[in-house]
Amino acid sequence: MGTIILGSGIAGISAGYHLEKAGRHAVIYEKDSDWGGLCGNFTIEGFRFDKFVHFTFAQDEYISNIFKNSSDLLEHIPFPSNYYKGIWIRHPAQNNLAPLSSEEKTDIIYDFVNRTEKPIEEIRDYEEWLRIQYGNYFAENFPFKYTRKYWGVEPKELETKWVGNRMYTPDLKQVLQGAFETQDECFYYAKIMKYPKIGGFRSILNNCREGLDIRFNKEVVKINPQEKTVTFKDGTSAQYTRLISSLPLPEIVKMIDGMPEEVKEAGENLMHTSGYMVSLGFNRPDVAKYLWFYIYDEDILPARVYSPNLKSPDNAPEGCSSLQAEIFFSNNAEIPAADVVLNKTIEKLIAMGLFKENEIIVKDIRFEKYANIIFDKNIYKNRQIVLDYLNKIGIESIGRFGKWEYFWTHQAFKNGMEVIK
Ligand SMILES: Cc1cc2nc3c(=O)[nH]c(=O)nc-3n(C[C@H](O)[C@H](O)[C@H](O)COP(=O)(O)OP(=O)(O)OC[C@H]3O[C@@H](n4cnc5c(N)ncnc54)[C@H](O)[C@@H]3O)c2cc1C
Repeated sequence: MGTIILGSGIAGISAGYHLEKAGRHAVIYEKDSDWGGLCGNFTIEGFRFDKFVHFTFAQDEYISNIFKNSSDLLEHIPFPSNYYKGIWIRHPAQNNLAPLSSEEKTDIIYDFVNRTEKPIEEIRDYEEWLRIQYGNYFAENFPFKYTRKYWGVEPKELETKWVGNRMYTPDLKQVLQGAFETQDECFYYAKIMKYPKIGGFRSILNNCREGLDIRFNKEVVKINPQEKTVTFKDGTSAQYTRLISSLPLPEIVKMIDGMPEEVKEAGENLMHTSGYMVSLGFNRPDVAKYLWFYIYDEDILPARVYSPNLKSPDNAPEGCSSLQAEIFFSNNAEIPAADVVLNKTIEKLIAMGLFKENEIIVKDIRFEKYANIIFDKNIYKNRQIVLDYLNKIGIESIGRFGKWEYFWTHQAFKNGMEVIK
């Protein structure tokens, strides 16, 4: 009997660490055989791959000190690139239009100048938001396509509160300057991206993880809030006095005894993306040219590709390099088989001129059911129904999928800290 935390991702680790620090013991139960959740990694023949891109840009002094004291951090200035119809364009594309044809530049700038104005509070959906920020031509050819690839839905299905500072909106002068000459300025919303020198992304948590009581291969399948028990897939169960969960809301609603139908339905209607990671290791050191890049062409499956060995040389054997391509689908989509995605991805990346088939020495594909939360128009209503119910039955829900929020790692960490309040 005591405090139980479900999940050993960054939110669960942060919760366990801060409880232990306050002298309160907790047992963490994790379904996988290792800790880290989405911050975790895997190694194949000396190539280490994180689960999707992952850098930290924590600003908060307390949190960034914890990350820094856990591991030496390399610092990168983010200059991502964009691949569009065979052309490489520095990010953000709207103020680096120089490599495009005169015809496309004219269409983009003409529509940018003539875009409709509307007070931000009156904007109905993300499609309208994009048209108003960038003009029709750019909106339709860049972020509309990217939305379909990254979020797996049409832009009109999304609301807009999640956007915040994630999308850069240039003024006319910046668009014009970038149309003549690629700009040197970093317009990315985080000016420095940090990454551990050794051990992969999760090393930012090394100090917190140390000494925590984590029980692995313990997949929770049932929760009984009256008897205060959790039951695992292996048939065993554990009793709690306090239950903190970082499990995804659509999963937890299926596990709780006596869950009202309305709450179950709200949980099951929460939308999210799932993602494949295609991880490739090469026998030459210079395959990766960019820390990461976005791909707009819809006939190429990956939305984004990054380079593990540019994040840190510790991620690849000497003389080698690596890429990981990210391919996303919404939970309403039919998800193609892994071997189909792997082969199609490799074929297209070769056609883009990134590498040759005989340079690949490691290839792997993995799937994560929960990648990003989709901010469809019903998200706030459905999320509130589930969170209110969990609160009522004494389950404290934390983390990206427990709060159903667009958390970066430092935000999931901060949210985990709140269990000591
Ligand atoms: C594509 C992508 C790129 C990202 N890039 C960045 C980035 O560059 N920088 C950044 O700061 N953030 C990034 N993030 C966000 C970051 O990954 C998350 O905010 C953070 O890792 C969430 O941590 P968490 O602990 O809340 O959830 P998770 O990491 O999902 O942890 C939940 C844990 O619960 C376990 N679990 C699930 N079900 C059960 C069960 N039934 N029983 C027991 N255990 C269970 C899981 O195995 C997992 O370990 C990115 C996310 C994605 C998807």
